[in-house]
Amino acid sequence: MKNNLSILYVEDENNIREMLSKFIARFCKNIFLAHDGQEGLELYKQNHIDIVISDIKMPKLNGIDMVQEIKKINPAQLVIFTTAHIDSEYLFKAIELQIDGYIAKPVDLDKLKNQIDKCIIELEATHAQQQLKESEARSKIILETSQLGVFIYKEKFIYVNEVFCQMVGYTKEELYAMDSWALVSAQNTTKIKEIVYQRLEGKKFPRVHNEIPIVSKNGDTKIHRVTTDTIEYEGGYAGIGTSIDITDLLDTKERLKLLAQAMEQMDEMVRITDKDGYITYVNEALTKHTQYKKGELIGQQNNIFNSKKHDKKFYEKMYNIIEDKKSYKGVFVNAKKDGELYDEEQTITPILNEDTDEIEYYVSTSKDVTKEVKLQEQLETLATVDALTGIANRYSINKSIEDELKRAKRYNKHFSLLMFDIDFFKKVNDTHGHDIGDIVLKEFSQIISSSIRDTDMFGRWGGEEFMLLIPNEEIHVAQKLADKLRKQVKAHYFEDVEHITVSIGITHCDGHSEKEALLKRVDEALYEAKESGRDRVVAKV
Ligand code: GH3
Ligand code: MG
Ligand code: MG
Repeated sequence: MKNNLSILYVEDENNIREMLSKFIARFCKNIFLAHDGQEGLELYKQNHIDIVISDIKMPKLNGIDMVQEIKKINPAQLVIFTTAHIDSEYLFKAIELQIDGYIAKPVDLDKLKNQIDKCIIELEATHAQQQLKESEARSKIILETSQLGVFIYKEKFIYVNEVFCQMVGYTKEELYAMDSWALVSAQNTTKIKEIVYQRLEGKKFPRVHNEIPIVSKNGDTKIHRVTTDTIEYEGGYAGIGTSIDITDLLDTKERLKLLAQAMEQMDEMVRITDKDGYITYVNEALTKHTQYKKGELIGQQNNIFNSKKHDKKFYEKMYNIIEDKKSYKGVFVNAKKDGELYDEEQTITPILNEDTDEIEYYVSTSKDVTKEVKLQEQLETLATVDALTGIANRYSINKSIEDELKRAKRYNKHFSLLMFDIDFFKKVNDTHGHDIGDIVLKEFSQIISSSIRDTDMFGRWGGEEFMLLIPNEEIHVAQKLADKLRKQVKAHYFEDVEHITVSIGITHCDGHSEKEALLKRVDEALYEAKESGRDRVVAKV
């Protein structure tokens, strides 16, 4: 305090001013010096001054008049007068002005120091009081504005803050007329009343009631967390309490607990990652299925499941969608802890921050679809492959024709189409039986399959009829190939059956062809081959 002190010293006699100012300067941080009352008043107005030390008789404005002006600005200003004229006129005026010290000239330095010390003590007391006032004001603001209900009680409430009133729906006046245990639900009244009386007897025991039902004025029961203790109050004792309404919190907690339980019991696998792909939650279905423990997954990158079966593009496509804040659904080939691969149908949904609308988490729900994928693959094979011969079936070769026609149209391509029909096949069946007939069909398929190129498409059209599609080949080339195949079949030795022959119709297509016309032409070519004696190739353009 001493070091922060600012003193204004007003004295018209130069030698006295110089001498005393050096002495005064020892007690303070700032000393302002003035030659007369007018100068002193100016300095006072411009600076913060703790103590004014002033002569009385001075030119321009005397000390008494100066202090009169000063006291108008701050009635509590500390002032010490030094004067050689101890006459009653000045004394009465000084008393009127409530001066804090009066020292006769020539100034006794010890006395001056005493007076300054007294002023300092007074300043400190004022300062402390001010701080207390400020602290009280702060506490009051906190009490009245916090979310915390605060109440002080004896048998009745004796203080409640605004928040508490709002929580319970009563006014202050209503509460002050109520027993302090009146707000708790009936089953708790006796217990709380006992506690109140113990507090009033002065027993100190802080207590936290974690979930206590409090009945509001409108009859609603809310769950509060209440903390109470005993305080000394106006010579006796009282209870003080704080209260928070945790009803919503409990509801949320309960709902979250249910949700968490549901997630754990779900058959579907659930994992949550943060926006950078670090796993923050996994449910039991996932740990069970992937063989990882929870602790081995939390905090890891989600790519821990990667099987390396997908290329970069696959993941890029997914990220493009989810980073665009949309859901992605797809089948991932993922790896379990022991490396076993499984097909996982995953739906990944970005979770956005409510305020910023930025992605915060990704939630993935998924199930193992390995069986389904295998089945699907099998079905696809079944749907496209002829069960007896293992070559493309009618559906598949028909689709190839359609695809090839589209290519021909779009890219100005062309292709040849060959239709085979085994000659007198009925006779094979009739003579050797259906099973032998089947074997012939299989062997026939193999002969053709092994004599064509990878780009050619060969399939069973039905019964003992087959189709061969040769892309980008002129009809005369196709015709040569057909004749080669015809001869190959003729030359082949079939067990039991020995030899068979085949008739082949050919047609050529380009971008202008229609499928129906195409099939009609090739059928007509085949018919002609049959009609003209079988075991031959006929082309029809
Ligand atoms: P052509 O074509 O020379 O006029 O005489 P074809 O005897 O071959 O003529 P048709 O079309 O009348 O007979 C085809 C026969 O093929 C009838 C049917 O019993 C037989 N067939 C069709 N599908 C199968 C099959 O999957 N297995 C067996 N073993 N025979 C089949
Ligand atoms: Mg036939
Ligand atoms: Mg036939």
